Amino acid sequence: MAQLQGSITSVSLGPGDPDLITVKALRQLKGADLIYYPGTVEDGGVITGVAYDILKTYDLDSSCFRGILVPMSRSREAAEKRYDKAYASMLQAVGKGLLVVVVSVGDGGFYSTASAIVERALADGVECSMTPGIPAFIAAGSAARLPLALNDDSVVVLAQIDTLDELEKMLQEHQTVVVMKLSTVRDELLVFLERYRGAFLYAEKVGMAGQFLTTDTEALKGRIIPYFSLLVCSRRWSNNQL
Ligand code: SAH
Repeated sequence: MAQLQGSITSVSLGPGDPDLITVKALRQLKGADLIYYPGTVEDGGVITGVAYDILKTYDLDSSCFRGILVPMSRSREAAEKRYDKAYASMLQAVGKGLLVVVVSVGDGGFYSTASAIVERALADGVECSMTPGIPAFIAAGSAARLPLALNDDSVVVLAQIDTLDELEKMLQEHQTVVVMKLSTVRDELLVFLERYRGAFLYAEKVGMAGQFLTTDTEALKGRIIPYFSLLVCSRRWSNNQL
């Protein structure tokens, strides 16, 4: 009898709205034997995860869900250990011929923990593929009905920056600059935007419960800038257009 071949597939869920998944990704979720999802354990032990929230909407068999859960106060090392452990259990399943899926919010190749798994699988010669998805900044442009690029525009994506000066520097050479993981500069944001005065889009929880979009500095006063937020500045937009 031919040996069944197991595999690991990185499946992208899109940015939050369950309808923004691809047909292929949904098909792969439905055909999966095990679905690994990233999540966080809060101090009180509660599990939170956008990926899990999206997965729950698809009428899948939740007994095949497996959390890759990292404590809120994680160190990089602790996270790596958690991926090693998750990957080891995936390998066992693949050895039994199972179809293993690891999901990501947005695109699985764009600042995603799924890359840590894919990297290990490729190194071990495990059958592995990636299914792309809509990244959050693309969804943010659509939600605000603003183009991120036209003609010969260049777009730069920054992440986890230490200071918004980096954004300003990039705007000298590029039409559009995106800042992912914006919460790293939350304390500086308001002061920066008041000084900058150029057109921007702030997008929080795009496509999720609590979605909030604004192009107005006033609306950001007193706002906690959460992890699921990003900023787009574009010389393509003018303040009176927004
Ligand atoms: N793989 C994701 C990015 C993960 S990194 C993608 O393709 O979009 C996490 C960062 O993505 C967050 O800090 C935030 O800046 C951004 N992000 C992801 N989903 C978001 C959403 N629905 N709304 C706003 N920002 C989001």
